[in-house]
Amino acid sequence: MKKLALHWQILLGMVLGVAFAFLMAKSETGKQIVVDYVKPFGTIFINALKLIAVPLILASLIKGVSDLKDISKLSKMGGRTIGTYIVTTLIAVSIGLAVVNIIQPGKSINEKTRTELINSYKGAADSKIEAAEAQKNAGPLQALVDLVPSNIFKASSENGNMLQVIFFAIFFGIGMILIPEKKAKPVKKFFDGFNEVILKLIDLIMLAAPYGVFALLAALVVEAPSADLFKALGWYAICVVLGLGIMIGFYILIVWIFTKKTPAFFINGISPAQLLAFSTSSSAATLPVTMERVEEHLGVNEEVTSFVLPIGATINMDGTSLYQAVAAVFIAQAFGMELDFATQIGIIATATLASIGSAAVPGAGMVMLVIVLAQAGIPEAGLALIFAVDRPLDMCRTTVNVTGDAAVSMMVAKSVGKLGEPHVRDWDDEYHKKNK
Ligand code: ASP
Repeated sequence: MKKLALHWQILLGMVLGVAFAFLMAKSETGKQIVVDYVKPFGTIFINALKLIAVPLILASLIKGVSDLKDISKLSKMGGRTIGTYIVTTLIAVSIGLAVVNIIQPGKSINEKTRTELINSYKGAADSKIEAAEAQKNAGPLQALVDLVPSNIFKASSENGNMLQVIFFAIFFGIGMILIPEKKAKPVKKFFDGFNEVILKLIDLIMLAAPYGVFALLAALVVEAPSADLFKALGWYAICVVLGLGIMIGFYILIVWIFTKKTPAFFINGISPAQLLAFSTSSSAATLPVTMERVEEHLGVNEEVTSFVLPIGATINMDGTSLYQAVAAVFIAQAFGMELDFATQIGIIATATLASIGSAAVPGAGMVMLVIVLAQAGIPEAGLALIFAVDRPLDMCRTTVNVTGDAAVSMMVAKSVGKLGEPHVRDWDDEYHKKNK
């Protein structure tokens, strides 16, 4: 029998999950069954992905950096990576601002809906505002201080400290370049093998992906708020989704122009990671799969993926920055505020920084939105306005975040001559080939 390609299997899992949830949501018992007996499998799936994120970053980045053999190569690639990430983020925020200013979704919110939304989500919004408070109170250089861990085991024990793990791995890799090759060799061999094992684990976890996303989406649907609230926020959601759609188009275009790889090639290669990003709302949880897809299916050399993707998952969030811009202006419009040009330019700057600072986990973009709102003088209580639709939009923006990382890694790879042909290693696809 012909085996379905992985992205179709995942898509099927998603569709069946949603359909199943709609059936079960007809009764309270049905909903409870999904929460008690289906949702845990989704959680297990996400945990398994997160479980290998830190070892994967450590092994692949240490190997990747030490493969570079000289430090000037590292700084060249580092400069290009960070530069491209910042440019794509600025473009994303600008697209968001353009869309929200043209469609003006906030104007369609009347006084009654506004009060209703604020009353229903006040508590939830307050906890996000509180979470942002700590970030706001930090000094200007706190981000730099946070980059350097005081204890690598402590840093690795917290999936939220990914930048610290990245820092350690690069630092370690540099140390390996600087010692005599003979001494570095066994260490490198160890991390090589370690990396290989982790890649195999990703294959194993991906076998469960269609079932994992089934459980994740079923749980999301039965726990979603009422459809009426969704309707009130329809125009706002359309603006975010439209902006994100334009951004995906933009990635496809730049990949096409700069690397001559066709849109079909790019989308086929990256789609399982996109679907996973959509289902998990977490770039960090998706990272192992993004790395595998970009390397094996898009042909980016491991030296590039191991460096560009973990950094991208943590700092490059184009979807998040676009959403923050749309949300900020939407809230201002809903409160009847006019934002002048200078304030909107300010939003470009703060949304870019806030997206860099957002953790790669569900809902993180909303916490950092508080900072964008505060900077622009927009009432933070407005967060409650957009709460009802945040999860579905989080799913969409995470998909864009992951696609952006993949697109940039292809461009960086091309610019340093490290973009080759796909070399699929995962057993699923081998199985597929053998059984065709
Ligand atoms: N969930 C997003 C991510 O992991 C971050 C966010 O926008 O909330 O990329």
